Amino acid sequence: MTPLKSSHRCPGCGWTKVSKGWTVSSLPVVMNYRFRTPREAIRVARRDVSLVECGRCGLIFNATFDPSVIPYDDRYENRQCYSESFMRHLEERSEAVHAALRLPTRTGRVLEVGCGKGDFLKMVCKKTGRSGIGYDTSYEGPSKALLGAVEFHTRYVSSADIKEPLSAILCRHVVEHIGSIGDFLGELARMARAGGDPLVFLETPDFGWIAEQGAFWDVFYEHCNYFSRAALRDLCDRAGFTVIRHNAVFVRQYQWIEMRLRRRQKTPTYKRKSSSLLLTFARCQQRQQSRLQKSVAEQAGPGGWGIWGAGAKGVALCHALKTPPPRAVIDSNPAKQGSFIPGTSIPGILQSRNSTWCASQILTTKGRSLPPCAEADLRRRFCISRPDETHPRHIEADSGNPGRRTLASAAALL
Ligand SMILES: [Zn+2]
Repeated sequence: MTPLKSSHRCPGCGWTKVSKGWTVSSLPVVMNYRFRTPREAIRVARRDVSLVECGRCGLIFNATFDPSVIPYDDRYENRQCYSESFMRHLEERSEAVHAALRLPTRTGRVLEVGCGKGDFLKMVCKKTGRSGIGYDTSYEGPSKALLGAVEFHTRYVSSADIKEPLSAILCRHVVEHIGSIGDFLGELARMARAGGDPLVFLETPDFGWIAEQGAFWDVFYEHCNYFSRAALRDLCDRAGFTVIRHNAVFVRQYQWIEMRLRRRQKTPTYKRKSSSLLLTFARCQQRQQSRLQKSVAEQAGPGGWGIWGAGAKGVALCHALKTPPPRAVIDSNPAKQGSFIPGTSIPGILQSRNSTWCASQILTTKGRSLPPCAEADLRRRFCISRPDETHPRHIEADSGNPGRRTLASAAALL
């Protein structure tokens, strides 16, 4: 923990008393981004992440965050729909929305604020039989889907856009990206008011889980806010919502809130938070990082080591564990194939039957072991040799010789 030079105003509740800071230096400003050449990837802008904790609402935020440096354009790629476990999670969440909308009967479209590439909105609309509308600056694809029942806009949305009744507002994995989070939640409440008091669903990582695990790979520049369950509830309440349900989901990594506008005005009374979750995190992450670095250095072997998952977590691991650096990052998303890990010349390669790199060790953040199907897949398919440094985007198959070498260890260290 390092003291920051000046005090900072909490973007959630406006309080100016914050904790000492925990800083990680010079992280790429964007993790989920497709860089087509190593040169482009290495030249990504970098900034420090300096986390502090608000002494009133408990929000943990990056005190030096500058949203203008993050390019949320069509090369921003954070889809996880190629992961079976994540798809199961989305199915469960769409079922939760469906169940909540059945009673009492609600009419109107489903709005998604920050719909990404639109996969979840389409899933919810299919399940509920409702029409939908999604907004995201990184959306790419047709402006209409499901025979015109769902429409997409490549821009931000505000309450001025809401001209019709809404049955639900979905907002998944958005609030951790918004610098002015108190203002954003206030605007979300105005959208709900303009839409006739729909149910509002939020999903975001749970910092309680991150702190407990020492999960330093879950801290990156794109995420400027980190919420304990109490902090998220407190801020939603301050914005004028009343929380109906608040659940831990996706193996406790995420929290899911179902809420609606509060009917009666009240003067909220909030307890000041006494514990320091940031301090807990700072201690645990240091232990985790040392343990992983030691393990990677000792067990990398002649084949080198790799990371399973080229999302933000995998990229964060690339930056934290550098001796030796990973040879490649494997991902099941074809859009990551042929791109380079931000800030490095490390290639992202596809989970493929024909890969020819024989890694000594694969590091994954997917729990204490790889999912059984993924581990079986790795063992069956990955007979991988060293990536060709002159043509790293073309790590080709050696399908004729799949048993030549085997993956020495698909060790899931985390
Ligand atoms: Zn605050």
